[in-house]
Amino acid sequence: MSWSWRIATIAGIPIYIHGTFLLLIAFVLVSDWTRGQDLAGAMAGVLFVLAIFATVVLHELGHALTAKRYGIQTRDITLLPIGGIARIERMPDVPRQELWVALAGPAVNLVIAGLVYVLLVLPATSHPIQILSMSEHTIERFAEINLWLAGFNLIPAFPMDGGRALRALLAERTDYVRATQIAAGLGQGLALLFGFVGLFFNPFLLFIALFVWMGASSESLATQTRSALAGVPITHAMITDFRTLDAYDTLQSAVDLLLAGSQRDFPVLHDGRLVGILTSDSLTSALAQSGPGAAVADVMERTFQVADAAEMLEPAYQRLQGCRCRVLPVLKGDRVVGLLTPDNVTEFVMLRGALRRRAAAV
Ligand code: ZN
Repeated sequence: MSWSWRIATIAGIPIYIHGTFLLLIAFVLVSDWTRGQDLAGAMAGVLFVLAIFATVVLHELGHALTAKRYGIQTRDITLLPIGGIARIERMPDVPRQELWVALAGPAVNLVIAGLVYVLLVLPATSHPIQILSMSEHTIERFAEINLWLAGFNLIPAFPMDGGRALRALLAERTDYVRATQIAAGLGQGLALLFGFVGLFFNPFLLFIALFVWMGASSESLATQTRSALAGVPITHAMITDFRTLDAYDTLQSAVDLLLAGSQRDFPVLHDGRLVGILTSDSLTSALAQSGPGAAVADVMERTFQVADAAEMLEPAYQRLQGCRCRVLPVLKGDRVVGLLTPDNVTEFVMLRGALRRRAAAV
């Protein structure tokens, strides 16, 4: 994510903080100050926000470290003003494992709330304490917020953790796509309810409603895509009618090819072997810098991912999404036999969906 800075690395997982998060801190500082708090009071307010976000990091680490136990890596964790996002590489395919990964986050909040109560709040009733000018009321509120975070995340609807847990439980009885649709449907129903209540009582709920609605529909779409791709060889979905460039071609011939058809990214060959990829973006910027006479070899991307023609579509598509590249050349031996792009996978999913609907109707 752009505008993010790495603040720590825990268990090999980089933790990023998003720029907008600093705005939130500034907002708390200024609003406390203008409410007549002295600097120490305002700092305590900031400290409180930081403590909350430390628990958000621990919550995400709960997910990430449980996933790691099942051999699944987490790319990074990013802190946003609305909470944390852990980019876990994929969800476990075994429903029981997904259940534990989902529940691990809220479990962390419950443990924190319990520890704070037992260690800080209960002793304070006999001996009042102060931690860095935080009153015991603040500490109690901290425990309450952790309870609230656990409760909110356990709502059994997508995209909350509770929705994932529900899907995992359903997936042990019915198929994965159907389980996702039920949990996503519940999520969208809940979003409507939040939105309706928010309209009249609390505008903040409208934001949550929007977030829940979008999360539920994107998860449902992703699962449908995954199921449409499952068990399909890559050769069934790749583009087979494509053009290539030679490493010694000029940028002008690349421009001609780009304008002549709808292909935007080109495999670059040398002696019939794939040596690079020329994307329309790098072509455009190279044209401005070096002009149309420059050689393709000088501006092409030399590090790229490929797929094998014997591969299945699903893992190749996951790689295509993971590398954020625009095209995955498909190789048979040394020869490029096809291209896989996000657009043509989307088209493939749509066509397969249409055929399935027809099969269901007939
Ligand atoms: Zn969570």
